[in-house]
Amino acid sequence: MKCTRLVLIGPPGSGKGTQATRICARYDIPWISTGDILRAAVKAHTPLGIQVQMLLSAGELVGDDLMIDLVRERLAHEDTARGFVLDGFPRTLVQAEALDQMVGGKPLLALVLEVPEAELERRLTSRRICTRCKTLTTSNSLYGSEEELCSKCGAVLITRDDDNIVTIRARLENYRRLTAPLIDYYQQRNWVARIDGTRPPDEVTRNIARVIDERMDLRDC
Ligand code: ADP
Ligand code: ZN
Repeated sequence: MKCTRLVLIGPPGSGKGTQATRICARYDIPWISTGDILRAAVKAHTPLGIQVQMLLSAGELVGDDLMIDLVRERLAHEDTARGFVLDGFPRTLVQAEALDQMVGGKPLLALVLEVPEAELERRLTSRRICTRCKTLTTSNSLYGSEEELCSKCGAVLITRDDDNIVTIRARLENYRRLTAPLIDYYQQRNWVARIDGTRPPDEVTRNIARVIDERMDLRDC
């Protein structure tokens, strides 16, 4: 049997969420977005949500211990038996080492979405999310200039709380400093595939799927 254990690495705005939804549908594996889990906790005012709310709105990272416990618990669910798409984890070396332990040292495929910083800032400041179906879109209008509706379900689109220029710069800086070194960490084991994230979304999906199918050596259960 083949398993598809994927780790998406890329700066905020590189298209991780968009690609994760498509890849998990194609390979029938769950999408695990730590950002979504945390935002849902904030919205529901759970103890976790209350604890992380300030960090999220400042664009700062949540502590490694908390994140590791959260992901360990999620990976214990049966639906991950044939693999998973991790989006937003690991984000630090400590998290990457913990993940290796969680999967018992089995190989992962780290997909690195590459997009230049100027393009990321442009995408993030114009990013909108649907309040109902959570679809992401890029807006043409300036923030707050007019109400926009989701092309899929018609509900109102909003800007994510942490998509403001100050927070965006903090998130990009954290990515450069803490997360980008993970590329070397996985490269040492030859588990990295670099993907050009500036291509149109469908093309990016095709390129990711091609790499996954080529690297069957990384898909042992
Ligand atoms: P981004 O668009 O920055 O990639 P995400 O939706 O992945 O956003 O995450 C949103 C926020 O959630 C991050 O800025 C961070 O505060 C927190 N977060 C998510 N995953 C992690 C993680 N693995 N470690 C620490 N903090 C995290
Ligand atoms: Zn919608």
